Amino acid sequence: MTADTPMVKAEDVRKSFGLVEVLRGIDLQVERGEVFCLIGPSGSGKSTFLRCINHLEKINGGRLSVDGELVGYRQKGDRLYELREKEVCAKRAEIGMVFQHFNLLSSRTVWDNVALPLELAGMDKAEIHARVQPLLDLVGLSHLADRYPAQISGGQKQRVGIARALASRPKVLLSDEATSALDPETTRSILDLLRQVNRELGVTVVL
Ligand code: ADP
Ligand code: MG
Repeated sequence: MTADTPMVKAEDVRKSFGLVEVLRGIDLQVERGEVFCLIGPSGSGKSTFLRCINHLEKINGGRLSVDGELVGYRQKGDRLYELREKEVCAKRAEIGMVFQHFNLLSSRTVWDNVALPLELAGMDKAEIHARVQPLLDLVGLSHLADRYPAQISGGQKQRVGIARALASRPKVLLSDEATSALDPETTRSILDLLRQVNRELGVTVVL
């Protein structure tokens, strides 16, 4: 991919659930390194669009690509092959996702929540340690590494969610209403953190 390949490109993207068309002809382009914001009323399809980027939903029409590759397909010569489940998992690791309700595992500490995607990817302990520590520093939670989710605030939980999403060094960070469960001041600090992540790590952010 060249430096000017868009990070996300949607061309006439369509998505229906049964007879209900939720995405109708979406055209947009997210440049690499950009912070891109999708705004719309509840039910307008924002989450659905993010889920299509992240291989959680399949589009019904149009073209959707991430970093120059069609989502869900592998190109060989001029033929397209649908990705197998294993390949989808690998692709998903290139995309970080931050959730509205944090989605932390309550039985795991802050540290272990951030380490989880790396453990699942089969990374060895030393390498996991070398990844997790700087991420906890980045999100300002090193001092809370041994706490459980029930022992930290909502804003801190979302910081864990952001660190976890960054653990696999994604190209894109998707944030689906990451701040809607938080008060205004915490919201500001989480948005500042996303901007810092974008600046310092060069990760493209779609929120
Ligand atoms: P937003 O995130 O902008 O609030 P969503 O993408 O969650 O919107 O939803 C868009 C529309 O798609 C809504 O009408 C919702 O009910 C519908 N929808 C979302 N997911 C599904 C699904 N899995 N099955 C059927 N309808 C769905
Ligand atoms: Mg939504």
